[in-house]
Amino acid sequence: MKVTGIVVHHTAVPSTTPLKYIRAYHTEKRGFRDIGYHWVLVETCAGWHSQAGRDESEDGAHCRGRNRTHIGVAIGGNYELDPLSLEAKEALADLLVEICVRHDLDPRTDITRHSQHSMTACPGRNVIESWDRIIDAVSERMPLEGAP
Ligand SMILES: [Zn+2]
Repeated sequence: MKVTGIVVHHTAVPSTTPLKYIRAYHTEKRGFRDIGYHWVLVETCAGWHSQAGRDESEDGAHCRGRNRTHIGVAIGGNYELDPLSLEAKEALADLLVEICVRHDLDPRTDITRHSQHSMTACPGRNVIESWDRIIDAVSERMPLEGAP
């Protein structure tokens, strides 16, 4: 797919839920052919890690009207309830930088929240409250244009 942006979600299940359970929920209960997200941030005993979901070359199943153009990124946890930890925020910013670089995206305009596209609380109030600081962190980490 031609990637023009990113949609950020939360999984709305505990942050330690393994990706294979989210994949099983999407394929067995929701009838998707694979997990709907391209990337999931999962908390393990060794910290936060990004794990690959659906291949980036394939359309996602995460946001109506954006699945053919936007990479779906989900942060493990329910951020209507859970505070967004510094570690989770850092892991999210690092992952978003990688995706922006790979697809030549502008963090200021091309990273969006699910709630900007649909009537949903996703990715949760505690992510939305931190949104400007997340985008600032991504922008600051982007390599300078033309740098080696
Ligand atoms: Zn969502």
